[in-house]
Amino acid sequence: MAKLTSRKEDYSKWYNELVIQTGMAENSKVRGCMVIKPYGYAIWEKMQAELDRMFKETGHQNAYFPLFVPKSLFEAEEKNAEGFAKECAVVTHYRLKNDENNPGKLIVDPNAKLEEELIVRPTSEAIIWSTYKGWIQSYRDLPILINQWANVVRWEMRTRLFLRTAEFLWQEGHTAHATKEEAIVETKQMLDVYADFVEGFMGIPVVKGVKSANERFAGAEDTYCIEALMQDGKALQAGTSHFLGQNFAKAFDVKFATKEGTLDYVWATSWGVSTRLIGALIMTHSDDNGLVLPPKLAPIQVVIVPIYRDDEQKNKISEVADKLVKELKSKGISVKFDDDDTVKPGWKFNEYELKGVPLRIAIGPRDLENGQVEMARRDTLEKSFEKLDGLADTIELKLEEIQTSIFDRAHKFREENITEVTSYEEFKEVLENKGGFISAYWDGTPETEEKIKNETKATIRCIPLENIEGTETGTDFYSEKPAKFKVLYAKAY
Ligand code: AMP
Repeated sequence: MAKLTSRKEDYSKWYNELVIQTGMAENSKVRGCMVIKPYGYAIWEKMQAELDRMFKETGHQNAYFPLFVPKSLFEAEEKNAEGFAKECAVVTHYRLKNDENNPGKLIVDPNAKLEEELIVRPTSEAIIWSTYKGWIQSYRDLPILINQWANVVRWEMRTRLFLRTAEFLWQEGHTAHATKEEAIVETKQMLDVYADFVEGFMGIPVVKGVKSANERFAGAEDTYCIEALMQDGKALQAGTSHFLGQNFAKAFDVKFATKEGTLDYVWATSWGVSTRLIGALIMTHSDDNGLVLPPKLAPIQVVIVPIYRDDEQKNKISEVADKLVKELKSKGISVKFDDDDTVKPGWKFNEYELKGVPLRIAIGPRDLENGQVEMARRDTLEKSFEKLDGLADTIELKLEEIQTSIFDRAHKFREENITEVTSYEEFKEVLENKGGFISAYWDGTPETEEKIKNETKATIRCIPLENIEGTETGTDFYSEKPAKFKVLYAKAY
Protein backbone atom coordinates (compact mmCIF):
# COMPACT_ATOMS: atom_id res chain seq x y z
CA MET A 1 0.00 0.00 0.00
CA ALA A 2 1.45 3.33 -1.03
CA LYS A 3 1.68 6.10 1.52
CA LEU A 4 -0.96 8.79 1.04
CA THR A 5 0.00 12.09 -0.54
CA SER A 6 0.06 14.56 2.34
CA ARG A 7 -2.73 17.10 2.74
CA LYS A 8 -0.25 19.92 2.55
CA GLU A 9 1.22 18.71 -0.70
CA ASP A 10 -2.07 18.24 -2.55
CA TYR A 11 -5.31 18.22 -0.59
CA SER A 12 -7.46 17.01 -3.40
CA LYS A 13 -5.08 14.17 -4.31
CA TRP A 14 -4.92 13.18 -0.64
CA TYR A 15 -8.71 13.02 -0.55
CA ASN A 16 -9.02 10.83 -3.64
CA GLU A 17 -6.26 8.48 -2.57
CA LEU A 18 -7.79 8.13 0.87
CA VAL A 19 -11.23 7.25 -0.50
CA ILE A 20 -9.75 4.65 -2.80
CA GLN A 21 -7.15 3.13 -0.47
CA THR A 22 -9.58 2.76 2.42
CA GLY A 23 -11.92 0.86 0.12
CA MET A 24 -14.79 3.31 0.62
CA ALA A 25 -15.55 4.00 -3.02
CA GLU A 26 -14.14 4.18 -6.51
CA ASN A 27 -14.94 5.81 -9.81
CA SER A 28 -17.10 3.66 -12.06
CA LYS A 29 -17.33 3.11 -15.78
CA VAL A 30 -20.26 5.53 -15.75
CA ARG A 31 -19.32 9.18 -16.06
CA GLY A 32 -19.66 10.97 -12.75
CA CYS A 33 -21.09 7.96 -10.92
CA MET A 34 -19.26 6.11 -8.18
CA VAL A 35 -19.23 2.61 -6.82
CA ILE A 36 -19.70 2.71 -3.06
CA LYS A 37 -17.67 -0.20 -1.72
CA PRO A 38 -18.49 -2.21 1.42
CA TYR A 39 -16.48 -0.06 3.84
CA GLY A 40 -18.03 3.17 2.57
CA TYR A 41 -21.46 1.59 2.47
CA ALA A 42 -21.13 0.33 6.05
CA ILE A 43 -20.57 3.94 7.15
CA TRP A 44 -23.59 5.08 5.09
CA GLU A 45 -25.70 2.35 6.71
CA LYS A 46 -24.75 3.59 10.17
CA MET A 47 -25.69 7.12 9.16
CA GLN A 48 -28.97 5.92 7.68
CA ALA A 49 -29.86 3.94 10.78
CA GLU A 50 -29.40 6.91 13.09
CA LEU A 51 -31.11 9.44 10.80
CA ASP A 52 -33.97 7.03 10.23
CA ARG A 53 -34.38 6.67 13.98
CA MET A 54 -34.40 10.45 14.38
CA PHE A 55 -36.95 10.93 11.58
CA LYS A 56 -39.27 8.34 13.10
CA GLU A 57 -38.87 9.84 16.54
CA THR A 58 -40.12 13.14 15.08
CA GLY A 59 -43.18 11.44 13.61
CA HIS A 60 -42.12 10.68 10.04
CA GLN A 61 -42.76 7.52 8.04
CA ASN A 62 -40.89 6.09 5.08
CA ALA A 63 -42.43 5.57 1.66
CA TYR A 64 -41.18 5.19 -1.89
CA PHE A 65 -42.02 7.04 -5.10
CA PRO A 66 -40.98 6.36 -8.72
CA LEU A 67 -37.55 7.10 -10.14
CA PHE A 68 -39.13 8.68 -13.24
CA VAL A 69 -41.08 11.91 -13.46
CA PRO A 70 -43.23 12.50 -16.57
CA LYS A 71 -42.08 15.75 -18.17
CA SER A 72 -45.48 17.45 -17.84
CA LEU A 73 -45.42 16.89 -14.09
CA PHE A 74 -41.83 18.01 -13.87
CA GLU A 75 -42.71 21.28 -15.62
CA ALA A 76 -45.62 22.10 -13.34
CA GLU A 77 -43.68 24.05 -10.72
CA GLU A 78 -41.88 26.40 -13.06
CA LYS A 79 -39.09 27.64 -10.84
CA ASN A 80 -38.20 24.15 -9.70
CA ALA A 81 -38.22 22.89 -13.29
CA GLU A 82 -36.12 25.78 -14.52
CA GLY A 83 -33.62 25.37 -11.70
CA PHE A 84 -33.02 21.69 -12.37
CA ALA A 85 -33.47 21.64 -16.17
CA LYS A 86 -29.76 21.94 -16.92
CA GLU A 87 -28.95 18.84 -14.86
CA CYS A 88 -31.66 16.43 -16.02
CA ALA A 89 -31.20 12.99 -17.54
CA VAL A 90 -34.16 12.22 -19.81
CA VAL A 91 -35.56 8.89 -20.97
CA THR A 92 -36.90 9.12 -24.51
CA HIS A 93 -37.17 5.48 -25.63
CA TYR A 94 -38.06 2.17 -24.03
CA ARG A 95 -36.47 -0.37 -26.38
CA LEU A 96 -33.28 -1.24 -28.21
CA LYS A 97 -32.95 -3.40 -31.29
CA ASN A 98 -30.18 -5.12 -33.24
CA ASP A 99 -28.31 -2.87 -35.62
CA GLU A 100 -28.57 -4.61 -39.00
CA ASN A 101 -25.52 -2.78 -40.37
CA ASN A 102 -23.41 -3.55 -37.36
CA PRO A 103 -23.84 -7.10 -36.07
CA GLY A 104 -23.59 -7.52 -32.32
CA LYS A 105 -24.46 -3.87 -31.69
CA LEU A 106 -27.70 -2.40 -30.46
CA ILE A 107 -29.42 0.83 -31.43
CA VAL A 108 -32.41 2.70 -30.03
CA ASP A 109 -35.57 1.42 -31.70
CA PRO A 110 -37.12 4.48 -33.36
CA ASN A 111 -40.51 2.79 -33.08
CA ALA A 112 -40.20 2.71 -29.31
CA LYS A 113 -40.27 6.44 -28.64
CA LEU A 114 -42.09 7.35 -25.45
CA GLU A 115 -45.17 9.45 -25.93
CA GLU A 116 -44.08 11.54 -23.00
CA GLU A 117 -40.47 11.83 -22.00
CA LEU A 118 -39.50 10.79 -18.49
CA ILE A 119 -37.13 12.77 -16.33
CA VAL A 120 -34.89 10.77 -14.01
CA ARG A 121 -35.67 12.47 -10.69
CA PRO A 122 -33.15 15.10 -9.61
CA THR A 123 -35.45 15.62 -6.60
CA SER A 124 -38.98 14.33 -6.04
CA GLU A 125 -41.26 17.27 -5.22
CA ALA A 126 -43.09 16.97 -8.56
CA ILE A 127 -43.86 13.27 -8.42
CA ILE A 128 -44.71 13.43 -4.72
CA TRP A 129 -46.98 16.48 -4.88
CA SER A 130 -48.83 15.09 -7.90
CA THR A 131 -49.47 12.04 -5.67
CA TYR A 132 -50.40 14.06 -2.57
CA LYS A 133 -53.21 15.61 -4.60
CA GLY A 134 -55.02 12.29 -4.35
CA TRP A 135 -54.30 11.93 -0.65
CA ILE A 136 -55.41 15.29 0.67
CA GLN A 137 -58.98 16.50 0.80
CA SER A 138 -59.48 17.95 4.25
CA TYR A 139 -57.53 19.19 7.26
CA ARG A 140 -58.01 15.68 8.70
CA ASP A 141 -55.61 14.33 6.08
CA LEU A 142 -52.86 16.65 7.35
CA PRO A 143 -50.07 16.74 8.20
CA ILE A 144 -48.38 14.22 5.92
CA LEU A 145 -44.90 13.50 7.22
CA ILE A 146 -43.04 11.31 4.75
CA ASN A 147 -39.42 10.49 4.10
CA GLN A 148 -37.96 8.53 1.22
CA TRP A 149 -34.55 6.86 1.01
CA ALA A 150 -33.55 6.97 -2.63
CA ASN A 151 -31.08 7.74 -5.36
CA VAL A 152 -31.33 10.86 -7.51
CA VAL A 153 -29.56 12.01 -10.64
CA ARG A 154 -28.18 15.49 -11.29
CA TRP A 155 -26.00 15.72 -14.37
CA GLU A 156 -23.10 17.42 -12.63
CA MET A 157 -20.23 18.51 -14.86
CA ARG A 158 -17.46 18.50 -12.27
CA THR A 159 -17.81 15.50 -10.03
CA ARG A 160 -15.86 14.23 -7.02
CA LEU A 161 -16.24 11.02 -5.08
CA PHE A 162 -18.97 11.47 -2.42
CA LEU A 163 -18.91 15.29 -2.54
CA ARG A 164 -20.57 15.74 -5.89
CA THR A 165 -21.66 12.83 -8.05
CA ALA A 166 -24.12 12.58 -10.92
CA GLU A 167 -26.08 9.89 -9.14
CA PHE A 168 -26.14 10.08 -5.37
CA LEU A 169 -27.91 8.43 -2.47
CA TRP A 170 -29.90 10.56 -0.08
CA GLN A 171 -33.04 10.84 1.91
CA GLU A 172 -35.68 13.39 1.05
CA GLY A 173 -38.43 14.37 3.44
CA HIS A 174 -41.63 15.79 1.92
CA THR A 175 -44.24 17.10 4.30
CA ALA A 176 -47.65 18.70 3.84
CA HIS A 177 -49.29 21.01 6.38
CA ALA A 178 -52.47 22.95 7.02
CA THR A 179 -50.75 26.16 8.07
CA LYS A 180 -47.75 28.22 7.15
CA GLU A 181 -46.62 28.33 10.78
CA GLU A 182 -46.66 24.56 11.10
CA ALA A 183 -44.64 24.15 7.89
CA ILE A 184 -42.04 26.62 9.12
CA VAL A 185 -41.81 24.81 12.46
CA GLU A 186 -41.24 21.56 10.54
CA THR A 187 -38.56 23.13 8.32
CA LYS A 188 -36.67 24.37 11.36
CA GLN A 189 -37.19 21.16 13.29
CA MET A 190 -35.57 19.13 10.52
CA LEU A 191 -32.69 21.58 10.33
CA ASP A 192 -32.16 20.94 14.04
CA VAL A 193 -32.35 17.19 13.49
CA TYR A 194 -29.63 17.49 10.83
CA ALA A 195 -27.45 19.70 13.01
CA ASP A 196 -27.82 17.35 15.98
CA PHE A 197 -26.98 14.36 13.83
CA VAL A 198 -24.00 15.90 12.06
CA GLU A 199 -22.52 17.35 15.25
CA GLY A 200 -23.43 14.63 17.73
CA PHE A 201 -22.95 11.58 15.57
CA MET A 202 -20.46 12.62 12.91
CA GLY A 203 -18.51 15.03 15.11
CA ILE A 204 -18.71 17.79 12.49
CA PRO A 205 -19.51 21.29 13.78
CA VAL A 206 -22.01 23.18 11.63
CA VAL A 207 -23.40 26.67 11.31
CA LYS A 208 -27.17 26.81 11.03
CA GLY A 209 -28.38 29.45 8.66
CA VAL A 210 -30.57 30.57 5.80
CA LYS A 211 -29.47 30.76 2.17
CA SER A 212 -29.49 33.98 0.20
CA ALA A 213 -31.90 34.12 -2.75
CA ASN A 214 -29.09 33.19 -5.18
CA GLU A 215 -28.34 29.95 -3.37
CA ARG A 216 -31.93 29.01 -2.53
CA PHE A 217 -33.44 25.70 -3.68
CA ALA A 218 -35.38 26.20 -6.91
CA GLY A 219 -39.04 26.42 -5.94
CA ALA A 220 -38.48 27.19 -2.24
CA GLU A 221 -39.52 30.28 -0.31
CA ASP A 222 -36.65 29.78 2.11
CA THR A 223 -33.75 27.35 2.26
CA TYR A 224 -32.31 26.63 5.68
CA CYS A 225 -28.95 24.92 5.72
CA ILE A 226 -26.13 23.58 7.82
CA GLU A 227 -22.68 24.61 6.62
CA ALA A 228 -19.44 22.93 7.61
CA LEU A 229 -15.82 23.95 7.19
CA MET A 230 -13.31 21.53 5.72
CA GLN A 231 -9.64 21.34 6.75
CA ASP A 232 -8.48 23.07 3.57
CA GLY A 233 -10.56 26.13 4.45
CA LYS A 234 -13.38 25.48 1.99
CA ALA A 235 -17.00 25.30 3.08
CA LEU A 236 -19.38 22.45 2.38
CA GLN A 237 -23.16 22.53 2.38
CA ALA A 238 -23.93 19.59 4.61
CA GLY A 239 -27.72 19.57 4.55
CA THR A 240 -30.75 21.62 3.55
CA SER A 241 -34.30 22.06 4.77
CA HIS A 242 -36.69 23.99 2.56
CA PHE A 243 -39.85 25.90 3.35
CA LEU A 244 -41.72 25.52 0.07
CA GLY A 245 -44.70 27.74 0.88
CA GLN A 246 -47.73 26.85 -1.25
CA ASN A 247 -45.71 26.70 -4.47
CA PHE A 248 -46.07 22.97 -5.11
CA ALA A 249 -49.66 22.85 -3.87
CA LYS A 250 -50.52 25.56 -6.39
CA ALA A 251 -48.60 23.86 -9.17
CA PHE A 252 -50.43 20.56 -8.56
CA ASP A 253 -53.70 22.04 -7.34
CA VAL A 254 -53.56 20.46 -3.91
CA LYS A 255 -56.29 22.12 -1.82
CA PHE A 256 -57.86 21.08 1.44
CA ALA A 257 -61.04 21.92 3.31
CA THR A 258 -60.04 23.84 6.42
CA LYS A 259 -61.64 23.40 9.85
CA GLU A 260 -63.59 26.59 9.12
CA GLY A 261 -65.00 25.09 5.93
CA THR A 262 -62.99 27.18 3.46
CA LEU A 263 -60.62 25.81 0.79
CA ASP A 264 -56.90 26.53 1.00
CA TYR A 265 -53.70 25.39 -0.64
CA VAL A 266 -51.50 23.04 1.37
CA TRP A 267 -48.16 24.21 2.82
CA ALA A 268 -45.02 22.20 2.11
CA THR A 269 -41.49 21.46 3.24
CA SER A 270 -38.73 19.26 1.89
CA TRP A 271 -35.35 18.37 3.36
CA GLY A 272 -32.39 16.23 2.40
CA VAL A 273 -28.93 15.02 3.22
CA SER A 274 -26.85 12.87 0.93
CA THR A 275 -23.77 10.68 0.62
CA ARG A 276 -21.94 14.03 0.42
CA LEU A 277 -21.85 13.85 4.22
CA ILE A 278 -19.27 11.06 3.91
CA GLY A 279 -17.05 13.52 2.06
CA ALA A 280 -17.59 16.01 4.90
CA LEU A 281 -16.63 13.35 7.40
CA ILE A 282 -13.36 12.61 5.61
CA MET A 283 -12.43 16.24 5.07
CA THR A 284 -13.19 17.24 8.67
CA HIS A 285 -11.33 14.63 10.69
CA SER A 286 -8.87 12.63 8.64
CA ASP A 287 -5.09 13.03 8.50
CA ASP A 288 -2.09 12.03 6.42
CA ASN A 289 -2.24 8.47 7.78
CA GLY A 290 -5.80 7.99 6.57
CA LEU A 291 -9.34 8.11 7.80
CA VAL A 292 -10.26 9.22 11.32
CA LEU A 293 -13.74 8.05 12.29
CA PRO A 294 -15.89 9.21 15.18
CA PRO A 295 -16.65 6.08 17.24
CA LYS A 296 -20.41 6.44 16.74
CA LEU A 297 -19.93 6.01 13.00
CA ALA A 298 -17.11 3.51 12.83
CA PRO A 299 -18.14 0.11 11.41
CA ILE A 300 -15.36 -1.36 13.59
CA GLN A 301 -14.86 0.61 16.82
CA VAL A 302 -12.12 -1.50 18.35
CA VAL A 303 -9.65 -3.86 16.76
CA ILE A 304 -7.60 -6.34 18.76
CA VAL A 305 -4.28 -7.42 17.26
CA PRO A 306 -2.45 -10.34 18.84
CA ILE A 307 1.35 -10.38 18.78
CA TYR A 308 2.86 -13.83 19.19
CA ARG A 309 5.67 -16.12 18.12
CA ASP A 310 4.21 -19.58 18.59
CA ASP A 311 0.91 -21.38 19.02
CA GLU A 312 1.20 -21.49 22.76
CA GLN A 313 1.44 -17.69 22.95
CA LYS A 314 -1.31 -17.35 20.38
CA ASN A 315 -3.66 -19.58 22.38
CA LYS A 316 -3.08 -17.65 25.58
CA ILE A 317 -3.71 -14.32 23.88
CA SER A 318 -6.79 -15.64 22.08
CA GLU A 319 -8.30 -16.73 25.36
CA VAL A 320 -7.99 -13.22 26.78
CA ALA A 321 -9.07 -11.61 23.52
CA ASP A 322 -12.16 -13.79 23.16
CA LYS A 323 -13.28 -12.83 26.64
CA LEU A 324 -12.75 -9.14 25.88
CA VAL A 325 -14.66 -9.45 22.60
CA LYS A 326 -17.62 -10.94 24.47
CA GLU A 327 -17.60 -8.18 27.07
CA LEU A 328 -17.36 -5.44 24.45
CA LYS A 329 -20.13 -6.96 22.34
CA SER A 330 -22.40 -7.12 25.37
CA LYS A 331 -21.86 -3.36 25.71
CA GLY A 332 -22.89 -2.89 22.06
CA ILE A 333 -19.35 -2.05 20.95
CA SER A 334 -18.34 -3.40 17.56
CA VAL A 335 -15.03 -5.17 17.83
CA LYS A 336 -12.84 -7.26 15.59
CA PHE A 337 -10.23 -9.72 16.82
CA ASP A 338 -7.85 -9.94 13.90
CA ASP A 339 -5.95 -13.19 14.33
CA ASP A 340 -5.23 -13.57 10.63
CA ASP A 341 -1.75 -15.09 10.57
CA THR A 342 -1.07 -14.44 6.90
CA VAL A 343 -0.06 -10.83 7.60
CA LYS A 344 2.26 -9.24 10.17
CA PRO A 345 0.99 -7.09 13.07
CA GLY A 346 2.73 -4.03 11.57
CA TRP A 347 0.73 -4.44 8.39
CA LYS A 348 -2.48 -4.67 10.40
CA PHE A 349 -1.57 -1.53 12.37
CA ASN A 350 -1.22 0.42 9.12
CA GLU A 351 -4.39 -1.01 7.68
CA TYR A 352 -6.58 -0.14 10.68
CA GLU A 353 -4.98 3.27 10.96
CA LEU A 354 -5.79 3.91 7.31
CA LYS A 355 -9.37 2.75 7.88
CA GLY A 356 -9.83 5.00 10.88
CA VAL A 357 -10.65 2.38 13.51
CA PRO A 358 -10.89 4.55 16.66
CA LEU A 359 -9.10 2.20 19.08
CA ARG A 360 -6.49 -0.47 18.54
CA ILE A 361 -5.58 -2.93 21.26
CA ALA A 362 -2.35 -4.88 20.84
CA ILE A 363 -1.74 -7.89 23.10
CA GLY A 364 1.63 -9.63 23.34
CA PRO A 365 2.92 -12.33 25.72
CA ARG A 366 4.77 -9.86 27.92
CA ASP A 367 1.65 -7.69 28.22
CA LEU A 368 -0.25 -10.69 29.52
CA GLU A 369 2.40 -11.34 32.13
CA ASN A 370 2.04 -7.73 33.26
CA GLY A 371 -1.76 -7.87 33.16
CA GLN A 372 -1.99 -5.08 30.60
CA VAL A 373 -2.46 -4.29 26.89
CA GLU A 374 -1.27 -1.53 24.59
CA MET A 375 -4.02 0.84 23.48
CA ALA A 376 -3.60 3.21 20.51
CA ARG A 377 -6.01 6.05 19.77
CA ARG A 378 -6.52 6.75 16.10
CA ASP A 379 -7.44 10.41 16.48
CA THR A 380 -4.37 11.54 18.46
CA LEU A 381 -2.12 8.56 17.63
CA GLU A 382 -1.39 8.36 21.39
CA LYS A 383 -0.43 5.04 22.88
CA SER A 384 -0.91 3.94 26.46
CA PHE A 385 -0.82 0.81 28.56
CA GLU A 386 -4.13 -0.16 30.08
CA LYS A 387 -4.90 -2.73 32.77
CA LEU A 388 -6.59 -5.92 31.62
CA ASP A 389 -8.72 -5.64 34.70
CA GLY A 390 -11.83 -3.63 33.76
CA LEU A 391 -10.55 -3.14 30.20
CA ALA A 392 -14.01 -3.23 28.60
CA ASP A 393 -15.08 -0.31 30.82
CA THR A 394 -11.89 1.59 30.01
CA ILE A 395 -12.55 1.10 26.30
CA GLU A 396 -16.14 2.24 26.59
CA LEU A 397 -15.05 5.46 28.30
CA LYS A 398 -12.23 6.02 25.84
CA LEU A 399 -14.62 5.75 22.89
CA GLU A 400 -16.84 8.41 24.43
CA GLU A 401 -13.81 10.59 25.03
CA ILE A 402 -12.71 10.25 21.39
CA GLN A 403 -16.19 11.14 20.13
CA THR A 404 -16.12 14.36 22.14
CA SER A 405 -12.53 15.18 21.46
CA ILE A 406 -12.71 14.97 17.67
CA PHE A 407 -15.72 17.25 17.69
CA ASP A 408 -13.88 19.70 19.94
CA ARG A 409 -10.85 19.69 17.70
CA ALA A 410 -12.93 20.35 14.59
CA HIS A 411 -14.90 23.02 16.45
CA LYS A 412 -11.73 24.79 17.53
CA PHE A 413 -10.46 24.73 13.94
CA ARG A 414 -13.77 26.14 12.70
CA GLU A 415 -13.76 28.93 15.28
CA GLU A 416 -10.16 29.83 14.43
CA ASN A 417 -11.16 30.05 10.80
CA ILE A 418 -14.02 32.49 11.00
CA THR A 419 -12.55 35.89 10.24
CA GLU A 420 -14.38 39.20 10.55
CA VAL A 421 -13.65 41.72 7.82
CA THR A 422 -14.80 45.28 7.18
CA SER A 423 -13.12 46.08 3.85
CA TYR A 424 -12.91 44.43 0.45
CA GLU A 425 -9.10 44.49 0.62
CA GLU A 426 -9.19 42.54 3.85
CA PHE A 427 -11.78 40.18 2.38
CA LYS A 428 -9.59 39.30 -0.58
CA GLU A 429 -6.53 39.01 1.60
CA VAL A 430 -8.19 36.53 3.97
CA LEU A 431 -9.67 34.57 1.09
CA GLU A 432 -6.30 34.29 -0.59
CA ASN A 433 -4.09 33.52 2.40
CA LYS A 434 -6.26 31.94 5.03
CA GLY A 435 -9.55 30.73 3.61
CA GLY A 436 -12.29 29.64 5.96
CA PHE A 437 -15.50 31.51 6.66
CA ILE A 438 -15.44 35.27 6.34
CA SER A 439 -18.00 37.05 8.45
CA ALA A 440 -19.04 40.40 7.04
CA TYR A 441 -21.99 42.75 6.63
CA TRP A 442 -24.08 42.24 3.49
CA ASP A 443 -26.48 44.78 2.03
CA GLY A 444 -28.98 42.03 1.22
CA THR A 445 -28.87 42.43 -2.58
CA PRO A 446 -28.19 39.63 -5.08
CA GLU A 447 -26.13 42.12 -7.13
CA THR A 448 -23.49 42.56 -4.45
CA GLU A 449 -23.31 38.83 -3.86
CA GLU A 450 -23.02 38.16 -7.60
CA LYS A 451 -20.22 40.69 -8.10
CA ILE A 452 -18.22 39.28 -5.22
CA LYS A 453 -18.72 35.77 -6.54
CA ASN A 454 -17.55 36.72 -10.02
CA GLU A 455 -14.51 38.53 -8.70
CA THR A 456 -13.42 36.07 -6.01
CA LYS A 457 -15.39 32.78 -6.39
CA ALA A 458 -16.57 33.21 -2.79
CA THR A 459 -20.30 32.91 -2.15
CA ILE A 460 -22.57 33.61 0.76
CA ARG A 461 -22.73 30.26 2.47
CA CYS A 462 -25.48 31.36 4.80
CA ILE A 463 -26.93 34.05 6.97
CA PRO A 464 -26.39 32.49 10.40
CA LEU A 465 -29.71 32.17 12.24
CA GLU A 466 -28.32 34.03 15.24
CA ASN A 467 -27.41 37.00 13.01
CA ILE A 468 -30.92 37.23 11.59
CA GLU A 469 -32.37 37.31 15.07
CA GLY A 470 -29.85 39.94 16.24
CA THR A 471 -30.43 43.68 16.16
CA GLU A 472 -26.93 44.87 15.26
CA THR A 473 -26.66 46.64 11.90
CA GLY A 474 -23.71 47.91 9.87
CA THR A 475 -22.28 48.74 6.45
CA ASP A 476 -21.67 46.36 3.56
CA PHE A 477 -17.88 46.04 3.06
CA TYR A 478 -18.27 45.94 -0.74
CA SER A 479 -21.11 48.26 -1.68
CA GLU A 480 -20.83 50.45 1.42
CA LYS A 481 -24.62 50.43 1.63
CA PRO A 482 -26.42 49.88 4.94
CA ALA A 483 -26.59 46.24 5.99
CA LYS A 484 -29.00 44.47 8.31
CA PHE A 485 -26.80 41.55 9.27
CA LYS A 486 -23.51 39.76 8.89
CA VAL A 487 -23.29 36.72 6.63
CA LEU A 488 -20.66 34.02 6.15
CA TYR A 489 -18.78 34.03 2.87
CA ALA A 490 -16.48 31.22 1.72
CA LYS A 491 -15.24 29.34 -1.25
CA ALA A 492 -17.22 26.13 -1.26
CA TYR A 493 -17.17 22.59 -2.59
P1 AMP B 1 -30.92 20.06 -2.40
O1 AMP B 1 -32.05 19.20 -2.82
O2 AMP B 1 -30.26 20.75 -3.56
O3 AMP B 1 -31.23 20.98 -1.29
O4 AMP B 1 -29.79 19.07 -1.85
C1 AMP B 1 -30.03 18.20 -0.79
C2 AMP B 1 -28.74 17.66 -0.24
O5 AMP B 1 -28.02 16.94 -1.23
C3 AMP B 1 -27.83 18.78 0.22
O6 AMP B 1 -27.31 18.41 1.46
C4 AMP B 1 -26.76 18.85 -0.83
O7 AMP B 1 -25.57 19.28 -0.27
C5 AMP B 1 -26.70 17.43 -1.35
N1 AMP B 1 -26.29 17.38 -2.77
C6 AMP B 1 -26.68 18.21 -3.77
N2 AMP B 1 -26.11 17.87 -4.94
C7 AMP B 1 -25.32 16.78 -4.69
C8 AMP B 1 -24.46 15.95 -5.49
N3 AMP B 1 -24.30 16.18 -6.81
N4 AMP B 1 -23.81 14.93 -4.88
C9 AMP B 1 -23.98 14.69 -3.56
N5 AMP B 1 -24.77 15.44 -2.77
C10 AMP B 1 -25.45 16.47 -3.30
